[in-house]
Order: sequence, then C-alpha cells, then structure tokens
Amino acid sequence: MKNRDDEGHRAFALPGARLQYGPDKLVDVEHVELRLEPDLEACTLEGVCTTTVRAYDEPVDLVIDSVERDGNIAAFRVYDDRLEIRFEPPLAPNARTSFRITYRASRPRHGLFFIEPTKDYPHKARHAWTQSQDENARYWFPSFDYPHEKSTSQTTVVVEKGLFALANGELIERRDEGGKTIFTYRQDVPLPTYLMTFVAGPFVEKRQADAGARSVPVYYYVLPGREADGERSFGNTPRMIDAFERVIGTPYAYARYSQIAVTDFIFGGMENTSATTQTDRTLHDERAHLDFSSDPLVSHELAHQWFGDLLTCRDWSQAWLNEGFATYFECVWREADLGYDEYLYDVFGCVSRYLEEDGDRYRRPIVCNRFRDPIEIFDRHLYEKGGAVLHMLRGALGDGRFWRSIARYVRDNAQRNVETIDLIRAIEEETGRNLRAFFDQWVFRGGHPEIEVSIAWDAERSVATVTIDQKQAVDLERPAYIFDVDLGFCAEAPAAPAGNAGPGPVADERRVRVHVERAHETITIPLDAEPRLVRFDPGAWLLGSITYKFGATLAAAILRGDNDPVARIRAARALAKDGSQAARAALRDAFTSDPFWGVLEEAANALGATRAPWAREILLTALAHPHPKVRRAVAAALGSFRDAGVASALIPVAREDVSYFACAAALTALGKTRDVRAFDILTHAIVGSSWNATVEAGAARGLAELADARAIDPLLAATKLGRDEGLRRAAVGALARAGELLYDERARVVDALVQLLDDPMFLVQLSAIAATEALQDPRALGALDRLAASGFDGRVRRDAAEAALRIREAQKVPSQVSALRSDVDTLREEQRTLQEKIEALTRR
Ligand SMILES: [Zn+2]
Repeated sequence: MKNRDDEGHRAFALPGARLQYGPDKLVDVEHVELRLEPDLEACTLEGVCTTTVRAYDEPVDLVIDSVERDGNIAAFRVYDDRLEIRFEPPLAPNARTSFRITYRASRPRHGLFFIEPTKDYPHKARHAWTQSQDENARYWFPSFDYPHEKSTSQTTVVVEKGLFALANGELIERRDEGGKTIFTYRQDVPLPTYLMTFVAGPFVEKRQADAGARSVPVYYYVLPGREADGERSFGNTPRMIDAFERVIGTPYAYARYSQIAVTDFIFGGMENTSATTQTDRTLHDERAHLDFSSDPLVSHELAHQWFGDLLTCRDWSQAWLNEGFATYFECVWREADLGYDEYLYDVFGCVSRYLEEDGDRYRRPIVCNRFRDPIEIFDRHLYEKGGAVLHMLRGALGDGRFWRSIARYVRDNAQRNVETIDLIRAIEEETGRNLRAFFDQWVFRGGHPEIEVSIAWDAERSVATVTIDQKQAVDLERPAYIFDVDLGFCAEAPAAPAGNAGPGPVADERRVRVHVERAHETITIPLDAEPRLVRFDPGAWLLGSITYKFGATLAAAILRGDNDPVARIRAARALAKDGSQAARAALRDAFTSDPFWGVLEEAANALGATRAPWAREILLTALAHPHPKVRRAVAAALGSFRDAGVASALIPVAREDVSYFACAAALTALGKTRDVRAFDILTHAIVGSSWNATVEAGAARGLAELADARAIDPLLAATKLGRDEGLRRAAVGALARAGELLYDERARVVDALVQLLDDPMFLVQLSAIAATEALQDPRALGALDRLAASGFDGRVRRDAAEAALRIREAQKVPSQVSALRSDVDTLREEQRTLQEKIEALTRR
C-alpha cells in the first residue's frame, strides 16, 4: 500500500511536505524593544516595536517589517506576510541601526489571544496572553520569527490601573500613570522570538521561596480565587530549580522565574524565557491532588529554561533537543522527588506512548525536516522517544559520564543555537566516547528493535543459553540493532522486591554484559546452578518492545522478587498470557505484595486483556486496593467483562470512590458491562461538576459503550457550548464510539461531529477531528479537507489532513477487494486452461 513501508508503518510526511531549512539571515537582530498597550474590552493591541540590527558582511536591504529610522520614515513595502524595509544608503557591513515600527492588531488570528466572558461562559475573567511558538510571534509584533535568531529584549506593557502584566526577564519598573499601570521588563540573556511573551489581566501574585545558587526569586500568578490551587500546582518549583541546577551544573540563567496560569490555553504549558505560561486546567483541588500532580508539567517547562531557552534548537528539525530533554527531565524530577521506581516507570511510559504512535500512526526519525508546518513534528517521536533515548544514553555512558556530558553540553552551548552534533561533540570531548553510531541508530533513523528473549538450561553441562531475537524486519537497508545489554542470574529467587533499589545487581547476582549485533543471538553462560531469577537489561535501558519468553516459573520469580519494576511489568504481561496455575498465583499475590502501583497498573491492564474468568476474579478482589491509581486501572480493566457481578462491584466505586479518576474509570467500565442499571447511573453522573469534569467525562465514555440509542441525546447535550471543555472533548470522542456501535445513529453523529469541527474551542476541534477519523465516514471529508487547507493552527491542519487521508484509505479497501476478486477470477480461468492442456498432454 502506498504511504506505508513494507512492514505496514505509515510514512510521517503528508503530501505536499517539503524539506525545511532555516532561512538565511540578512542582519543579526541584537535587541527588540516593545511597547504594548492591550485593550482587554475591545480585544485590540497597540504596539511599537523598535529593533536594533547589525548588518552581516554584505550591504543589505532588510526584510523584516516597517518604518521609522533615526526619526525618518524609511522606504518600506508590504507583500504577502512580510514587510521589506529599504535602507538608503544600504547598511554597511557591521554597521548597526535601529528602526521603529508602529502597528496595531485587532483580534489577531493567532499568536495573541483575548479571553473574555461570553454568553456561554459568562464568568470568564478578561485577560490576554500570547503564544509565539512555533512561528506566531509575527502575529503580535513585527519580527524575524525563526529560532536561530536570538536577541535581548525590553517589553513595556501598559494596562488599566490595578491589572498585572508579565513579560520576559527582570521587572525593571512598575509605576502608575493616570488610569494606567506601566510594567517594564528587560531580558539581558538573548532569546528567540518564539519564547517572547506577554500576559495581562487581573492576576494575583504569589512570591515563592528564592531558589538556586543565585537565589533567583520565584513567582506564580493565578486569577483571583485560585490561590490555594496555585500552591498545590506550583509549590514544588523552587525545589525543582535546586534539583535541576545540581544535575545540569549551570545555574538558572535568568533574573527571575514566573509561572502564570491562563484560561483556554492551547498547550499544556509554554516555556517562555523566565515567564512560563501554564494552562489553568492544571490548577486543581485537594481531591484531585490525591492522584494528580502538576509536577510533570511544571518540571517540563522549567527544564526548558535550559533546554530550549538557554540552548535553543537551531531549527525545528532539531527540536528534540528542546522537547526530548524537557520530557526526560520530568523523569529526572520524579526520581529526585519520589525515587527510582517512579523515574523508571515514567521512562517506561514514554517508551509505551512512542511505541503506540509508531505502530498506529507513522514512523519517522527523531531528527526530520520533511513537513509542512513545524508543529507537525511535535509528536511522541520528538517528546517521548527523545526522552527515552536520553535514558538509554545514560545507560550507555553510566551515571557519572552521562551527567558530566550533559553539564558540558550546557556549559559549552549556553546562549547558542544547537544541533544534535553539538551534543555528540560534548559527549566526545568529555568522555572520549564516539557515539555517532548510537545517534545514527536511535535519532537519525526511525524504528526500534522488537525483542524476544528466552532461556534454556542444560543441567548436564551446567550452562544457560540465552536467546535474543530481533523480530522486526531486518535486511540490508534495515540492519539488526547493535547494543550492549546486561544479563543477570541468581541461584536463589528473592522473596520480595526492594523498592527504589536502582539498576544495580541484587545479592549474589552474576551479572554479564553481552554485545548484540545480529537478529538472532545465542549466548551461553556457564553457571554453578540453574538460575532461579534471570534478569534481562536491568534498568530497562534499551528502547524497544521487549517480550519475555522465560516460561511461567521464571516469570513468576521475576514478578515476585525482581527489584526492577519494568522487569516485573514484563513478567506480569508474560504471566497473563501464560495463564497457568503458577502464573495466576503470582499475579494474584502481586496485588497484595508488590510495593509499586505502576507494576499493578500494568498487571491490571494485562489481566483485562485476557478476558479470562480467573483474571476477572483477581481484578474483583484488587478493586479494593488502597492505592487510587491501582483502583483506577483495575476498574478500567473490569470493563472487559460483561456481566452483572462486575457491574455490582463497579457501582460503589463509580459513586463513592475518593479519587475522581477511579470514579471516572469505574463509570466507563460500567458502561462496558452494559448492565441494566448503568444507563441511569451514567446519565446522572454526566451532569455533575467535578474537577475538570473528570468524572463526567468518564460517564460520557461509559454511555457510549452501552450501545444504546438513548445515550446519544445526553452525549450531544454534553458537547454543547457552556459545558466544561474537558467534558465536551470526552463527549465528542464518546459520540464517535457510539456511532461505531450504533449503525442507525451514525448519520446523526456524523452531522454533529462535522459541526464540531468548526468549534471555537481549539481542543474540542482537535477531538472532533480525531472522532471523524475514528468513524471513517466519508461525509466528514469536505469539512476535513477545508480544515487541512485553512485551519487556524498547524495541529488542526496536520490532524485534519491525516484524518482525511485515513478515511480515503479506508474507502479504497472495497475497490481493492474487488480488484483482488477479479484477479482471482482470472487466475481460476488460467488454471482451467492449464489443466485442460495437462489433460490433453497426458492423454496423448
Ligand atoms: Zn516542551
């Protein structure tokens, strides 16, 4: 099939994608000075932008934006999305000049967003925020809008007296003048335009403890009434700064660090230099805090202050140096705060999410410059695979060399633009290790190994034979993956795992490092006695899908006693597939003895997938587990069993669990049981008001699973403007699911989804695109094509184009089937002719 490789992986590049390179620079932008006056009532911005530039080595006319130079109007003209300014006489090599552009914007299409109360959401506070990444600063100030141009900045924001304004850098002045308050910020460490920001509105300021070697002041800002939620979300920030400085070695570079939580933000967070913008959806109440944390978001954006802000990707193709690092540092913070098991499970989650995208969506190298919009590559290859590669790099180098290399990379490249080669060189200079092959394999090429590992014991010779098979396609173009991996053997199986033990050997472990370079490797290791515990890759350094073929006894020993949580997860998966008495006993015991919730979450998933009666029994007992994240996973897994007994067990969890997420999972699973009691419970729950509509969203998903036409009306009602954005998104997805299950309702569902493709809420729009893709209904094609061509955001354009492509692929299937049928007919005809010939020849 076109658009796929011969293993069935889809291509990343969409039709019309081009190879992208950063543009040439005619001048070096040295300083940008902004004076901004937002009008929060009229949703307009008046601005003056003064840019100081230095010419490179040739005389230039400047292409940026317009118009006043040294008091005189310079010649300028506007064409397409840019302005050309002509200097008379031309700017001499190395000469500097400044020019001042006066401009205004009214409800710009992108880049600057005014939030105001509406008929449907009358309680929204008026405020304004910007979002410049990836190339949208140009919507709110005239700029050379590419990541490889960094300059210092000064931003003055004039707001109504009493309001607050935030921008990049140090606050150098805050004064009242007439009915206005004027804020001036100065940023002395150069930054690219995509990291420039301003936010204005009635924010409440909270100064946190100073942090870091230089005692940097730390602040957060929330809209009135959210102060306690702000503390819950941002309270750990000063500790994070200390932790990151310790491992990175370069102090936090800016005069202060602020986080400001805004409404209807179109990302989770944006790492604007020294002044991160965060979605206010991360602010949460005490009940949510039980099993939800803002720390992943907060640590991600904070890590960007080094990786992205201080060291900026040279162009978007290198953006994993921003996002892969920020994602990895979420894990690093988790390790510092909660311990090794949480760290490793976080990395494992990255690998799992990457594997999903690689399997279901497309495959691409992490560094890749063939796309239409830069935002297209901000996917799980960039974030999650990038993060997992850094974990693997830590394994390859060892902790000491890894952190020294990272420190050197940051030290040597601070304030500069970076490419992957800069990281490779820093490692080489620090450690002498040449990792070009590593980067070729994992960063510059797509894919990963799919490994099956098994062991056989020869009692006579006292030799263990470990077989490591790479099951992915291997040929000259795609050679087998080359890596070193540790194997461990213990004569005694430990009785229980030690929590947070790290990747080191357990007592009496015989550890060997083996080199793998063929698709089928057999390694023989003489041992004193048959091993009772076998460890493959302790530390889970290797990026790929890894399956244990050890048999139930060894897998049970791993689940019962291996210190490595990922090893226990792999064992649990193997045991759920195995299903023998020994396997069942080990899985059952895990729910009372395993010290780490992550292992039990994955065990619950694996048990649900079996749909076996014995797994149902284990899950029913585990539903009372004290950890809310385990209960959440167990409730979800019970959705695999369609019976009244399961429904009876889920109902109290759905109604009363102290965790929003466990309630939501139980509601969805209850819908899957299709029990007669479910409809009433779900329609009652969908109109509740929990944090971010978490519980109501679970009810919406449950209603869809009922496969009951009565569910369509409450689902449609839940998509209406006025309801919580989180609920609306869930209801959109649920409608698609209901449309899949209820053929007669499909036309109604598709009509509603097509309307929602034009929803004013960006995230609802994305959900609607995904929903139409799931339904594969050609009636959505017209609307999808229109969005693919002219959607306001690159993600909308990308997702719509991809959805339309998938729907068209699905349409082709019937014609492919009929083509194959006619081939079969032709072959039958030929077969008859040949048979006649054979008969004629044999008769002769
Ligand atoms: Zn990021």
